[in-house]
Amino acid sequence: MNDLITQLGGPETFAIVVGGVATVIGGVVAALVGRRGGDDETVAPTQTQTPAGPGIEPIATPEEHPEEDALSDVEPAEVSEEAPEEVVDEAPSLDVPESVPTRMQRLRSRLARSGSFGSTLVRVLSRGDLDEEDWEEIEDTLLMADVGVEATDEIMEELRTQARIIGTSDPATIKTVLRTKLLELVDPTMDRSLAASRHDDHPGVVLMVGVNGTGKTTTVGKLARIFVAEDKKVLLGAADTFRAAAADQLATWGERVGVDVVRSDRQGADPASVAFDAVKRGDSEEVDVVLVDTAGRLQNKRDLMDELGKVKRVMEKTAPVTETLLVMDATTGQNGMSQARLFAEVVDITGIVLTKLDGSAKGGIVISVQRELGVPVKLVGLGEGPDDLAPFDPASFVDSLLS
Ligand code: GDP
Repeated sequence: MNDLITQLGGPETFAIVVGGVATVIGGVVAALVGRRGGDDETVAPTQTQTPAGPGIEPIATPEEHPEEDALSDVEPAEVSEEAPEEVVDEAPSLDVPESVPTRMQRLRSRLARSGSFGSTLVRVLSRGDLDEEDWEEIEDTLLMADVGVEATDEIMEELRTQARIIGTSDPATIKTVLRTKLLELVDPTMDRSLAASRHDDHPGVVLMVGVNGTGKTTTVGKLARIFVAEDKKVLLGAADTFRAAAADQLATWGERVGVDVVRSDRQGADPASVAFDAVKRGDSEEVDVVLVDTAGRLQNKRDLMDELGKVKRVMEKTAPVTETLLVMDATTGQNGMSQARLFAEVVDITGIVLTKLDGSAKGGIVISVQRELGVPVKLVGLGEGPDDLAPFDPASFVDSLLS
């Protein structure tokens, strides 16, 4: 199957997108210098939102309406079963999700305006005979890019040592040293494939967690489009039942590509109930992958653990969760990092999605978050558009930093 796992392994395409990310990062730095709801609860039944049917206004693309958060402003379509009979035969108008290579090209051109923190480093290092001020500039550059204190120390040590040994101001040599060190820190040996295909007669099951506002719902929608583009049968579960607009937002994403959404009609309903129903239905309909959005209320560790633990437990009554992705906003720095740590403590994260890298000078966070949590960044969010999500490839990322 021509699935995302294959695409994750395609360095040429990754090179394009991570190049864009890196240039944005560096530009800013340079300028600076069964039982529904589990065993113990009675819950309202969930309902399924089917894709937009005939007679429903087509949803504008972001290009047509570039204003912020366009998707969440769109009124949810009514359930298609209720569409008037006379228009039932009309074909629904669905988006064709952009292919991964094209979207990457587009993202690169959007982001190519800026410099990169890597090129700032190379520029300073190339001065030769570096004085303390130069070294401080290098250190500041790394810290400002959110590489993290530990990794920054490692890089500094390596560079100082090499500068002493090689004693060169040749940019090409320095680039090689820096490239090797950065790549080691980004760690190309981590498995970044997504476990999101059918296996043992069950769908792949992806659980999306993270703090509200990081881009979880948006990422579920974007990921659904990637899978649809791969001809996978997808089902969404709107288990963020606490945020009023979340289920509608997800339904809108689903409608655009003909993907059903399992949701509750009651705000504040038990998220585990929705998650359970989604996996159950995905399993019986033999879909390829079920994606489940969750609420990311900032609460104490115990509540979060209880809530996510229960969601996962009831999902696994039907099929194992194959991927638990932590969505993290790249612009939130240390604050985001401590939130990420909390989530990682309460649920077994298998991968990280770094969103909003398009608006961030903090690309070094790739290094710090992986070190901190010990799991790979698998996807990066590069904008609010429907196809602004891309797989992450370390070598291409580092190359583009230093290009
Ligand atoms: P949730 O509360 O975690 O589900 O967050 P949402 O999915 O509702 O996203 C919150 C906001 O972040 C929305 O305005 C999204 O359009 C925006 N967003 C999500 N991902 C990205 C991204 O990669 N880049 C940018 N610039 N905005 C994003």
